[in-house]
Amino acid sequence: MPVYEFKCMDCGEIFTIKMSVMEMESAQITCPKCGSSKVMKMISSFNTMTSKKS
Ligand SMILES: [Zn+2]
Repeated sequence: MPVYEFKCMDCGEIFTIKMSVMEMESAQITCPKCGSSKVMKMISSFNTMTSKKS
C-alpha cells in the first residue's frame, strides 16, 4: 500500500497517510494539525507524475 505525503497549505505541516489508490480517490484529506482541507499532495519518488520538470 503506497504512502502519500501531504503538505498543509495553511499551517505548513507535512504529514504522511497510507492508503490505497481507491481510498485516495474518495478520501477527504485533512491536516492532522489544524484540520484544514487545503492540503497539497507531495509526489513521492516512486510515483512521479509528469506534471513538472525541474
Ligand atoms: Zn494544517
